Amino acid sequence: MGLITWKDEPLQVPEGEGFFNCPTCGARRPCWLWRTVRRGLLFGKVPVTAPQVVGPERFRCDACGGEFAEDGQHGYDYGPNAVTQAWKCFRCKQEVPYERFDCPHCGYRLEVGN
Ligand SMILES: [Zn+2]
Ligand SMILES: [Zn+2]
Repeated sequence: MGLITWKDEPLQVPEGEGFFNCPTCGARRPCWLWRTVRRGLLFGKVPVTAPQVVGPERFRCDACGGEFAEDGQHGYDYGPNAVTQAWKCFRCKQEVPYERFDCPHCGYRLEVGN
């Protein structure tokens, strides 16, 4: 009987490519979505368990290389589109770029969160 070695190895697995609101760049950027997956490896290479997702999804910004974990606090708004829908200012009814929380036309400020 040989020695059976068991390794539980975390793997970074790219899940997809899209766009997100990068907090460092302060802009919508192309990014990779990553997941950390764990699987048991026999002899360090034979997968013996189905991969299990651990931890939150993470975004890696293509522009600045920053990594950000999905924490439910940030509006990363990951998606396939570089441009998201503009919203209409409640006061002056003009269009405001999606990523802004204040109206560049009249200064109205959208209150977000609490
Ligand atoms: Zn960035
Ligand atoms: Zn306005």
